[in-house]
Amino acid sequence: MIALDLAAILMVFVGFPLLVVSVLSIFYNIRSIHRPMRERESIYSCADCGHVYAFARNRPMDRCPRCGHLNEAVRS
Ligand SMILES: [Zn+2]
Repeated sequence: MIALDLAAILMVFVGFPLLVVSVLSIFYNIRSIHRPMRERESIYSCADCGHVYAFARNRPMDRCPRCGHLNEAVRS
């Protein structure tokens, strides 16, 4: 049987997956910086006053800046 000490077991089962997740998060953060602003925007059309507006936040609903009515995103 192969003898493994506790440090090697922790390194394989905790350290390696943590390293992979860290590298992936850095990769996706860098990739999202280089995406154009228009791709990150959600477009809303106010059902109350007809105002069309866009926010960079990724929310399913947002308030109209003109009248304050809550609207669903037309495109996100
Ligand atoms: Zn409105």
